[in-house]
Amino acid sequence: MTVGQDSTARRDEVAAGLARVEERIASACRAAGRLRGDVQLIVVTKRFPGSDIEALCELGVTDIGENRDQEASTKIAALPHDVRQRLQVHFIGQLQSNKAHSLANYVDSVHSIDRDKLVTALDRAAGAAGRDIGALVQVSLGAGPTAVGRGGIPLDGVAELANSVAAAPHLTLRGLMAVAPLGVDAGEAFAQLDRVARAVRAEHPEATWVSAGMSADLEAAVAHGATHLRVGSAILGSRPPVG
Ligand SMILES: *Cc1c(COP(=O)(O)O)cnc(C)c1O
Repeated sequence: MTVGQDSTARRDEVAAGLARVEERIASACRAAGRLRGDVQLIVVTKRFPGSDIEALCELGVTDIGENRDQEASTKIAALPHDVRQRLQVHFIGQLQSNKAHSLANYVDSVHSIDRDKLVTALDRAAGAAGRDIGALVQVSLGAGPTAVGRGGIPLDGVAELANSVAAAPHLTLRGLMAVAPLGVDAGEAFAQLDRVARAVRAEHPEATWVSAGMSADLEAAVAHGATHLRVGSAILGSRPPVG
């Protein structure tokens, strides 16, 4: 994105990016024999301005993802009321428990629960805000010698953390989230996630979400049962630097 770019030109660019990704999702669903309606697109708007969120909203996008509390809280508070009302906000970034109170005011779900301390903090914050927040356990799929892990709890801790989320009065266990590790086949990683998700669903039938797949690997995620895709750069372009 160019600073000061004409807003009509930017809207067209966003519309074109969204159309390309919609086409990719539709064809991945066809290939997998799945319904388009069973896959939710979350547009990752981190580091992009609120005006892009408004443009996305006009194009029918209902779900956005953000990864830094400070940026997200400011940006979302400045949105026009009608835009804000139509949005579901997903938090997908690494989270410190001292941010839980801020997040509880504006997020609908947190995809990055990777330790018990966060469950406690987020549950307390949601209770104080009088809200119920969706929570997903982030799974680390970084097994194997070439894999580079990208956050989350190891596989053997997933069941216990899911139980802890499910027991929290102000949180609703939605399911699991993962980022495919660098250096392994995304399809294999997402197949592993799918197996863990099935095991969690056997204990917690309400945990139906599998949040997986980004710009580079959304087809593999759809093929392996993802219900939520988190797509940024393929729609909005390369991200401006942090800061
Ligand atoms: C930034 C981010 C995405 C989106 O990545 P793209 O490659 O831009 O689609 C998805 N998931 C997480 C956890 C992210 O931090």
